[in-house]
Amino acid sequence: MSEEVKPESVSLCPLGTAAAPEPEMLCIFGTGDLGRSLGQRLLQSGYKVVYGSRRPHSCGPLPQGAQVMSHAAAAQSASLVFICIHREHYDFLEKLAPQLKGKVLVDVSNNLKKNLYPEANAEYLQRLIPGAHVVKGFNTLSAWALQNGPSDANRQVYLCGNSAEAKQAVAEMATKLGFTVLDRGSLSAARELEDFPLQLFPEWRLPLRLAFGLTAAFFIYVVIRDVVYTYVEQGKDISFRIMVSLANRVFPIVSLIMLSLCYLPGVIAGFLQLYRGTKYRRFPDWLDRWMLCRKQLGLLALAFASLHVLYTLIIPIRYYVRFKISQSTISKFKENQTSEFDTTSAWRSDSYYAVGILGFGVYLLLGITSLPSVSNALSWREFSFIQSKLGYLTLFLCTFHTYLYGWNKFLYPSYYKWYTPPAFMLGLVLPSVVLVLKLLLILPCVDRTLTRIRQGWERNDPNDDTKESLLT
Ligand code: NAP
Repeated sequence: MSEEVKPESVSLCPLGTAAAPEPEMLCIFGTGDLGRSLGQRLLQSGYKVVYGSRRPHSCGPLPQGAQVMSHAAAAQSASLVFICIHREHYDFLEKLAPQLKGKVLVDVSNNLKKNLYPEANAEYLQRLIPGAHVVKGFNTLSAWALQNGPSDANRQVYLCGNSAEAKQAVAEMATKLGFTVLDRGSLSAARELEDFPLQLFPEWRLPLRLAFGLTAAFFIYVVIRDVVYTYVEQGKDISFRIMVSLANRVFPIVSLIMLSLCYLPGVIAGFLQLYRGTKYRRFPDWLDRWMLCRKQLGLLALAFASLHVLYTLIIPIRYYVRFKISQSTISKFKENQTSEFDTTSAWRSDSYYAVGILGFGVYLLLGITSLPSVSNALSWREFSFIQSKLGYLTLFLCTFHTYLYGWNKFLYPSYYKWYTPPAFMLGLVLPSVVLVLKLLLILPCVDRTLTRIRQGWERNDPNDDTKESLLT
């Protein structure tokens, strides 16, 4: 018997002569918006596409190069089938169970609202065709995003499914399409994935409500103290001030309060850790939720500060302001009066503007660094330095700016109309409290203990005695 000798070297074919690998055939059920966009994307990425349709001969324009057949015929020509059909029409798939046996079915469906059905769409599909491997995915992408490619839209594709091989096949295909795949586990996560596209700014809800509530409350307060008071006490109508003057009084107050609310939970957490003597006990839920929306609180605070800046810039061109200035000049001219230059007032107003501009500058820096593209480029230390140290500096500068605005107004009873303090004084309470509390936390003796706690030290550590006795 002659033994076959295997050559040690492999003969290489010259480039171009080897047969190019046959493109993989993928199947799409449904020739609607998503089906068409997905088909186009798959064809562009080098796949062959076959559509399964109820009306293979009259289903409208499809991407060039795609074939269209009946569902049963299309399913037989591919091992991976996208179900681009609304869940309400899934029933007909049950009849195709023999053709779909062993195939990977990608469920891309979404619902109109949460908890519409007792089970997730993908779990329902799996129940209809138990012999197939259902993978939930691609449902967070829109037809538009698929058509425009991942560079213009969301890059992430979430997947879940019970078969690791099926998920692997879908993940490889999604990567080839240019998406980043995030595995969310088994098919029981499908409901969570189906709820993703239905979310409406969940983390913005509380900050937006707060911003709206504060704006409304302060607006009512300043309208009563200014417009109503002047009308009742002096019979004068100054309601025109609502549009600019009063709005520009409310925006900085709301901004300052929202900025303080960004830093207050951190201070509360610090005191809680000091009181408990450990960092290993969970914070109350309300504090956790509050901490999670600090970025949104900060961005809204910045938006209100920007409005304040814009409103301030138009002050010199306002009719009311120009009228007041010319009136005062004319009356001085008529009375042959001149006013002395007041250095204190000059210092005060210049400091007020300078501190305000500086505060807004650092505020902008904070906002920019909270953008994911910027924060991703920063080290953890750089990010925490900006968000914490510069954050407190912003709070300090903006609070100081408001104190300079108040100047001696705190002392004159005429400012307390109907025994109520001016709105800016109310707005100063929270930032002042936060700054004082932070000052207490950074006192060296307090800061040392807090740093130790944050590094894992516990005041009532049961192992501490043992450690001490071992050391001695
Ligand atoms: P669509 O434009 O209404 O298309 C759905 C397709 O399903 C139809 O074109 C039709 O294709 C087929 N169909 C309709 N009624 C049927 C029935 N009774 N039996 C069998 N097939 C039927 O919907 P779509 O926007 O493409 O959405 C398809 C799926 O993708 C939905 O589950 C949706 O939640 C999900 N999705 C859509 C988007 C999006 O941006 N559009 C984004 C994410 C997820 P044939 O006429 O060829 O049979």
